[in-house]
Amino acid sequence: MPTYEYRCDACEHEWEEFKSITAKPTKKCPECKKQKAKRIISAGGGLIFKGSGFYQTDYRSDSYKKGASAEKKASESKASDSSTSSSSSSKKSDSSTKSAASE
Ligand SMILES: [Zn+2]
Repeated sequence: MPTYEYRCDACEHEWEEFKSITAKPTKKCPECKKQKAKRIISAGGGLIFKGSGFYQTDYRSDSYKKGASAEKKASESKASDSSTSSSSSSKKSDSSTKSAASE
């Protein structure tokens, strides 16, 4: 079952749910109980279902950039030949590098 990420437009609460792909999307926010939830899919970095608004693409490109620069830094300081090693790690860390690249 895929993991769906949701974000509430009203209170900006974010959460995840495990659901069947055929299940109806959640609209109700567990925090404020308003029908303002929107589904965000970022897992794997491949598929993005756009509903409306700009959260999905903004979120993704931002974290993608940060991930890329962090990766660059790491390979610069670590290895002297940097041409081979940086291919696959930007995808899986898509949602977790959001606040990591600040130094
Ligand atoms: Zn809410």
